[in-house]
Amino acid sequence: MTTTSSTNRPSQPRRIFADYAATAPLRQEAIEAMEQAQHLLNPAGHYASGRAARAVLEEAREQVAELLGCDPVEVIFTGSGTEADNIAIQGLAFASRRLRGATAVVSSGIEHPAVLESVQWLTHLGFEHREWAVDQHGRVDTDTDLLDTDDVAVATCMWANNETGNLQPIEAITQRRAQHRRQGSSHAGTVPFHIDAVQAVGHVPVNFHALGVQTLAASAHKFGGPKSAGILLARRDAQIDSPLRGGGQERGLRSGTANPQAAAGVAAALAASYKTMEQDHARVTRLRDHVAQAARGIDDVRVWTQEPALPGHLHVSFPGAEGDSLIMLLDVAGVDASTGSACSSGVNRASHVLTAMGVPVDVARGALRITLGPGTTDEDARRIAGLLPEVVAQARAAGMAFGDKSTR
Ligand code: PLP
Repeated sequence: MTTTSSTNRPSQPRRIFADYAATAPLRQEAIEAMEQAQHLLNPAGHYASGRAARAVLEEAREQVAELLGCDPVEVIFTGSGTEADNIAIQGLAFASRRLRGATAVVSSGIEHPAVLESVQWLTHLGFEHREWAVDQHGRVDTDTDLLDTDDVAVATCMWANNETGNLQPIEAITQRRAQHRRQGSSHAGTVPFHIDAVQAVGHVPVNFHALGVQTLAASAHKFGGPKSAGILLARRDAQIDSPLRGGGQERGLRSGTANPQAAAGVAAALAASYKTMEQDHARVTRLRDHVAQAARGIDDVRVWTQEPALPGHLHVSFPGAEGDSLIMLLDVAGVDASTGSACSSGVNRASHVLTAMGVPVDVARGALRITLGPGTTDEDARRIAGLLPEVVAQARAAGMAFGDKSTR
């Protein structure tokens, strides 16, 4: 598809959005649901407009609960995935310390900053961090005995990595916990466990009750819902001392006036993503594989995305190229892509995920993440695949011209 301008300039090919792991465009269903809900007022109000707002909020809660396999009371609407991670990890840790004197926190080095920073904050508050080892694909060790001691206050693990797209062995972890619970002897089955499922929800089926964990975080803008709208699933019996204090809304876990408009958008986007999940999965995988094939044809490429992985993710490194050169050249060519590492400062640093996987810093710096989604077309994938060899060659030439910056 092309766009033409009124000033007779040559038509430009349309821009391609290939950064779905950062955020997905709003789904039409979410736009419509939020438009309908836009005039709603205070859902806590004991009057007609309050009841109307509350009805929309509770309907959204029921819909989310049904889709994610839990009870409506276990759905907490939050201000973001980050907020859901913070409330869960800190809240479980604080309650474990208060109730059992437990002070150890278990997590791996490949987590998103929403988790890494929560864990680090806990260490400033007297908790001890225990590192959960990962293999060269960033997958945690399921045979670990880190979860087997009484002093673990909270353990946390992401479902899908935001950079590589690689899925964690969540099923193996939860089966092991269930086995320990059945045996009734070990603490391992009952350690408060949080899953950061921000990249997974809306892309792979999730059944919260089947997981047997205490909490799970999701974020609407990753599946076509509004930004700054998260979901925290928290079991009824989970002991959580929320770090967020206030009016006690959302079971006392997320104080603050609830947002029925956002909740309506969250539920509509989640329902829409479940409706087309299977067909999207197959189509997006095919397009991603087409781009991956082009990347694999480039000299000395390293491919970090390894199955089982999210369908839209392709995370690679081209040693000799700088990640920021790769995305700048793609940007000029009309493609929105990313290096993958969560960085708000704009400085290209080696990804902490890749270095935790054992990737040398100079290789990690040449990372490129292309993430496709339901809006990606066959033509988009063909264009990205066609652009890659030249973009990498130019970035490598620039890398040679400027020398090795990694030692500066
Ligand atoms: N966890 C993971 C794995 C993520 O990818 C992200 C966002 O990129 C977050 C947490 C934070 O989500 P939000 O942007 O809703 O705060």
